[in-house]
Amino acid sequence: MEPFLFAKDQLSEFVAELMSRVRLYAPVPRDQELRFDEVKTPDEVVLDYRNTTKPPKMVLFPQTERMIAFAQEREHFNKVLQVPFDEQPKAILGLRPCDARSFLLFDKVFGAGKYIDPYYQARRKSTLILALACTHPRPTCFCHAFGSGPYDSEGADILMRDAGDAYLLEAVSEKGAALLEELGLAQADQAHLQKAAELEEAAYQKLVEIEPVEGIERDLEDLFESELWAEISEKCLACGTCTYNCPTCHCFTIEDRVLSGGGERVRSWDSCMYPYFTLHASGHNPRPDQASRWRQRVMHKFEYLPHNVGLYGCVGCGRCVVNCPVLLDIRQVLRRVRQERASKVES
Ligand code: SF4
Ligand code: SF4
Repeated sequence: MEPFLFAKDQLSEFVAELMSRVRLYAPVPRDQELRFDEVKTPDEVVLDYRNTTKPPKMVLFPQTERMIAFAQEREHFNKVLQVPFDEQPKAILGLRPCDARSFLLFDKVFGAGKYIDPYYQARRKSTLILALACTHPRPTCFCHAFGSGPYDSEGADILMRDAGDAYLLEAVSEKGAALLEELGLAQADQAHLQKAAELEEAAYQKLVEIEPVEGIERDLEDLFESELWAEISEKCLACGTCTYNCPTCHCFTIEDRVLSGGGERVRSWDSCMYPYFTLHASGHNPRPDQASRWRQRVMHKFEYLPHNVGLYGCVGCGRCVVNCPVLLDIRQVLRRVRQERASKVES
């Protein structure tokens, strides 16, 4: 099917149409930054951007969420009050292909296998993903090291492409095709298809050269006891910025809070970069230093996840590279892993 199209100066009308159907999330200005949030007015959406500091993962996996509320009653101590799952129809508009692809990992972690997370599942099933291809990949982007790229449609329901003065919209899933049918947009003409193809080619020219990540899990196999982790982690501040801003990081903690007449069970993001993340009630900490925490971050993303669910825990968005206050660069870490492995094999 030929792509559909709408003019960029019709963006507000397009957003208003989506808002009439779903609860819409998109990049909007909030607190002096551009971030994914629920859209309040159609004209606040910004699609002309490189990428947001914070990923859109909070739409499907909120930073803090109530899992249950419970009441304290004389007859039924801690009676559970069901918390409704978020099944309201939603859409995320304008997220980058790397962020759309991060949901494929979440699907494996929260939505497949023996343990299904009903909170994530309810949100995922009711959310449509309208990804926007990247015309200006940043020097820190390395999605292509994972066999992906700035025009990858994996994880999206609809892929939008810049075509100069218009956006082209192409269905990727059945859900996406159904929405496009309903919207009744015009079909793309030859001139816009040509312009979109030129912009796509130019985007690929901007990608920096990088070694493919594939196979890094084998390089990591013998490096658990390596001195490398102490070297890498030496300047880390344990601030957690890299994990909070990562679209694929999904570790969380759960706590029960006492409130008047009952309480609530709350799930919140947590970070393997924090000293207390693995602290046992006994006082023992199996990851007692930043070296073992950095090892966990790398091993989890690049060895355990590919072994356990068949996907890396990184999509190459470059956020941790851009935002680390001490300029720790995950691409350099992967390079050091390969060097370390090579020197082990030689010796
Ligand atoms: S952002 Fe940098 S300093 Fe902060 S925890 Fe991550 S690696 Fe360490
Ligand atoms: S590890 Fe860094 S580059 Fe990879 S997905 Fe997370 S934030 Fe992006």
